[in-house]
Amino acid sequence: MNSRNVIIIGSGPAGLTAALYSARANLQPLVIEGLEAGGQLMLTTLVENWPGHRDGIMGPELMTEMRAQAEKFGAEIIQNHVTSVDFSEMPFTVTTTDAVYKTKSLIIATGATARLLGLPSERTLMGHGVSTCATCDGYFFRGLEIAVVGGGDSAMEEANFLTKFASKVTLIHRRESFRASKIMQDKVRANPKVEVRMNAIVEEIQDSGKGEVTGLVMRDVNTGAVSEIPVAGVFVAIGHTPNTKLFKHALELDADGYILTRDGSKTNIPGVFACGDVQDHTYRQAITAAGSGCMAALDAEHYLDGVPEHLHT
Ligand code: NAP
Repeated sequence: MNSRNVIIIGSGPAGLTAALYSARANLQPLVIEGLEAGGQLMLTTLVENWPGHRDGIMGPELMTEMRAQAEKFGAEIIQNHVTSVDFSEMPFTVTTTDAVYKTKSLIIATGATARLLGLPSERTLMGHGVSTCATCDGYFFRGLEIAVVGGGDSAMEEANFLTKFASKVTLIHRRESFRASKIMQDKVRANPKVEVRMNAIVEEIQDSGKGEVTGLVMRDVNTGAVSEIPVAGVFVAIGHTPNTKLFKHALELDADGYILTRDGSKTNIPGVFACGDVQDHTYRQAITAAGSGCMAALDAEHYLDGVPEHLHT
């Protein structure tokens, strides 16, 4: 069936909650999982702030449960990714790598992806000492010296968290002051295992020919002085980029590239809704993403109630 009431792009907490609600509303949603099926929670370990799990739940397990729950109520979930969306005509046309679908409504839940420094060595050593997820990889650095790059709340949180494992954490930030909230900064400053290096940029991540991180080179932006520190891990915590490339020709985005929603989950195109991190750079929590997925499904349902009969499948 290539003609749909609702297609959901993305399968993190927002997409799968939208799937659950729209399936229970008898809309037979199709979820196109995307390249990072399950979203960012697939890269985490214990999630302790998901309500109802007093002792926490592992991120991947939570996503498996959400997926199964959506399927139980009739959501169809396919492992594929979208290559283009044509919003110019109703029903909309969604093209994936091997099929073309028509849909009367669309829910975008494509999330956000971790930003990288852009160094060739960072790419080569990703997963070999370079990481964007402290909760996933911190464990591997027990008793070792590591670095965290960034000056926002994520960098503070990761630096503190990583001192549970690492013998020392060097926090490297490119400016004179942190962007992070004061309380998070205070925690970092009070942590004896964190050394802060302000006004410094990472120029290279070294592996000494071993294929694993052994150190990094940084440059002081004021003096130009170059220094090397031995580290076994580099955690890049410099924010996220919303996954809006497919939609930016048609949907209104904010200055940071996030989809602008109004009046719940509505975008500037009637019948197109957005939820989760692709439209939220403030809260960015699994629970807020899930909540907005619910809103998008209810908004789509109300929208479909008013879609003219000749467009019904
Ligand atoms: P963010 O607030 O955008 O901070 C990104 C940091 O990375 C900034 O300090 C930025 O430097 C730096 N940066 C960006 N690009 C860089 C580059 N190419 N090279 C070096 N440094 C670079 O991102 P975030 O920390 O991930 O936080 C995102 C949102 O989630 C924020 O609203 C934050 O408050 C929230 N959050 C909250 C918590 C919490 O409360 N527990 C935890 C995590 C995140 P500049 O400052 O110079 O721009």
